Amino acid sequence: MEQIKIYLNYIKDIINGEEYLSDREKFTLILHICAISHLLFAIIFLGFGNILLMLYNLLSFLVYESMVTLAKNKQFKLIIFAICVEVNLFVLLTTLAYGNRLCFNLFCFLLVPASFYITYTAKKYKHPFAVSSLISAISAVTFSFSILFPNDNYMTLFEYSPTLFVITVALNIVITFLLLAIFCFMFTIEMRNSTATLENRTRQLKQLSSVDPLTKLANRRSMTEKLNISMHLLRKDKKAFSVIMGDIDNFKKVNDTYGHDCGDKVLVMVANTISSQMRDGDFVCRWGGEEILILVNGNIEAAKSLAERILNNICQNEVIHENNTIKVTMTFGVAQANESFRIEDFIQQADNRLYYGKTHGKCQVVAEIPNIINS
Ligand code: GH3
Ligand code: MG
Ligand code: MG
Repeated sequence: MEQIKIYLNYIKDIINGEEYLSDREKFTLILHICAISHLLFAIIFLGFGNILLMLYNLLSFLVYESMVTLAKNKQFKLIIFAICVEVNLFVLLTTLAYGNRLCFNLFCFLLVPASFYITYTAKKYKHPFAVSSLISAISAVTFSFSILFPNDNYMTLFEYSPTLFVITVALNIVITFLLLAIFCFMFTIEMRNSTATLENRTRQLKQLSSVDPLTKLANRRSMTEKLNISMHLLRKDKKAFSVIMGDIDNFKKVNDTYGHDCGDKVLVMVANTISSQMRDGDFVCRWGGEEILILVNGNIEAAKSLAERILNNICQNEVIHENNTIKVTMTFGVAQANESFRIEDFIQQADNRLYYGKTHGKCQVVAEIPNIINS
């Protein structure tokens, strides 16, 4: 009972896509369904006093239940073989006993989806298609035999108990279609889950390939994509954009004095401070070691005032590391994109201005290099 409850909950979660069945669980589920079907038949036949059919079904029930142990030990090849033998033998024996009108031969059809599902899920075969095709062919032969077998023994059962006859036929039809539906359902779930897994992995990979793990800022690759888009929009719609190149001042000294971990903390603080100042449409990335590049949706004035705001905030923040308080400053170079420039050109321009700032006192925003230097 407890087991059934667990399965019902599983099925609910699987339908909602919250749970995945392991191969072992999938096989156990299939085997239990088959075992329960045969047990049901065995009880019914026992109730109606048909010992032969009761024995066939009891035997099949025991075969399926013992296969559950095989599933626990992941003996999937043996399970596929045993299922194939059991179904074909069961159909042959029942046909020999009562002909095909009792519809036990419908079970042959179940071997087709079952063999494909199991061989592909178990991943134990080099050629799963060949194995499942062979099992399907054997089932087709058994089914043909059951159809061609000229046997009206069913009449003995019908005369003996019309109710039992109707119950047997109805149950066989219901069980066959139910199991067919279950296999189709499992195929669909399998497909949906593998698509969802693939989508998740792709998302994770995309995240990994576009985000810097330390600062959680975008990396250079994603910035290059954004710059290309902005350049396209500038050329097409005259949509101005600028870049800010920032570099932490005396960062080597922080590393050398307080250690690399402290340097990392400073980097994270800088990244968080900058991110908190971003507006919609702006984009920030870790361009290099401790260099930050910001793409600003606007002209050089907008970029300059953003850089100044960031600098103010960074100067107000401090990093505490092992009882040491570290003050951080940065220098920024700003440049506006120009239609006739290449992307590398105005990034270089921002870098030149940053360099000018570094060599002229640091802790500042440089949007223009005085003419004397330019010439
Ligand atoms: P300046 O003011 O001229 O920029 O001087 P600086 O000391 O900051 O010099 P520079 O920009 O050349 O220093 C770069 C240093 O950044 C060297 C490198 O060890 C450090 N660095 C780069 N990436 C990381 C990182 O991920 N973590 C830490 N802790 N340090 C890094
Ligand atoms: Mg530096
Ligand atoms: Mg640097």
